[in-house]
Amino acid sequence: LLTILLTAILAAKLQRAREKLRQHQRELEIMSITDITTGIFNRRHLNEILDLEYKRMAREGTTLSILMIDVDYFKNYNDKLGHQTGDECIRKVAQALLGILQRPGDVLGRYGGDEFTAILPNTDRDGAEVISESMLDAISELRMVHPDSEVSGNVTISVGGACHSGRSGGGSVMKLLRLADEAMYRSKQSGRNRAVVLDEDST
Ligand code: GH3
Ligand code: MG
Repeated sequence: LLTILLTAILAAKLQRAREKLRQHQRELEIMSITDITTGIFNRRHLNEILDLEYKRMAREGTTLSILMIDVDYFKNYNDKLGHQTGDECIRKVAQALLGILQRPGDVLGRYGGDEFTAILPNTDRDGAEVISESMLDAISELRMVHPDSEVSGNVTISVGGACHSGRSGGGSVMKLLRLADEAMYRSKQSGRNRAVVLDEDST
């Protein structure tokens, strides 16, 4: 009888330990894909999703868009208001951008620093432009005072987007990212607080 009792107690203990371990594993998995400051996906996870979505787009002949979103004159913002207020700003921007993305497949993550990336499956250039404009509006509606911006009294963003259609073949994730970089460069150069979206198939 004692043996049966002891076995039951040990089995119950083992069960509890297993549950704890599983819980820790789940927490670790979430931590490994999350950006600590904002709570949205981190760059590593963005890269994974982008690889998957790129392959799906190529396979299914659909269209994929990506948007790079970068806060304007954010170094000045930090310098004037301090790093903590800067972090607060980054968090608000992240939440506002998140609020724009409505489709289940859309993904937003923090690429690093003051830069975010949106991955938009089944979205062409026109669609990406609509989303970009909504993002610009959402950030301007936050009306966060920016004491040292050359484009506005409030915090603004610049958006650089790129899209590629699986129907036209060729291309790569690397090329798509480079095109989005180019679009961001043009967006900043032409005055900031705006969006430039380039189509890989027409450049
Ligand atoms: P631009 O309009 O050309 O984008 O100018 P910028 O000043 O935003 O660009 P730059 O890349 O020179 O500066 C980005 C700044 O973002 C640098 C750093 O001070 C700040 N930064 C980067 N990561 C963080 C962070 O995690 N928290 C805070 N508070 N600031 C950060
Ligand atoms: Mg910036």
